[in-house]
Amino acid sequence: MPPALDPVTQQALAARLRFYRDLGLTELYRRPVDPAKIPSFPTQVLEEAAATPATVPDTPPVAAPPAPALLPEEPPIPPRKPFPAPPEVGGIVPPAGRAAALRAIQEEIGDCTRCALHAGRNKIVFADGSPTARLMFVGEGPGADEDAQGLPFVGRAGQLLNNMITAMGLKREDVYIANVVKCRPPANRTPEPEEAHTCSPFLFRQIDVVRPEVLVALGATAATYLLGQKQPLAGLRGRVLSVRGTRLIVTYHPAYLLRDPRQKKEAWADLQIAMRELGLKPPSRS
Ligand code: SF4
Repeated sequence: MPPALDPVTQQALAARLRFYRDLGLTELYRRPVDPAKIPSFPTQVLEEAAATPATVPDTPPVAAPPAPALLPEEPPIPPRKPFPAPPEVGGIVPPAGRAAALRAIQEEIGDCTRCALHAGRNKIVFADGSPTARLMFVGEGPGADEDAQGLPFVGRAGQLLNNMITAMGLKREDVYIANVVKCRPPANRTPEPEEAHTCSPFLFRQIDVVRPEVLVALGATAATYLLGQKQPLAGLRGRVLSVRGTRLIVTYHPAYLLRDPRQKKEAWADLQIAMRELGLKPPSRS
């Protein structure tokens, strides 16, 4: 068992991982290291170092001790599993039948135990909003507030999303909001590929029923599973992409914007692309 990290290092590591996640780097691996295989520093050198008084030497520096033996060759990293093919795009559901079609998907999910996330959830977070919305937002997964209420984006990040929707001249009930996974990952971690691949077919079916004119992916995880491939967020933003016959705009997750409000301007630029695609004008400030 490796020694526990001190709290300061733990916090720095967590901040660094969050930063990587926001950049779209969501798959990291940790190579297990057998402590017995870590070469120890030559005992003689350690003893000499301990015996040396802590003064500045006035003689030229001594040559560095010989480098310890190299670690054994690393095992090859297995190739990443390909993304499973998304379900075929469903037939068009007439607007009057969309609410019932969404209820049918929700009933099919039921008290789902299809992936490991079921174990820690309080409520399944299916979706919120209009079954005939022209605009749909897709996030990563529920957080603590969403898990408690059974609704997506109701915490602080949800409040910011509501403000973004209002700035677009819309109301929350005008749009449709769902997530890649419907159960809260422990400690708000990024869903594992296995979990996202198990749950996302329900999201695809929701998209097919609602048939929004524009989809907005909130963050790298949503973009990854909607597009079926992992790409850095920077390469996806500012473009109009296509998913299941619908235009897709990618922007930052509101939780990221809460951590780095300087990026709100960038997010607003992304939403303006969505507005342009929908033919919307921002509300006047009078
Ligand atoms: S995350 Fe999705 S697939 Fe996993 S248990 Fe919840 S509803 Fe089922």
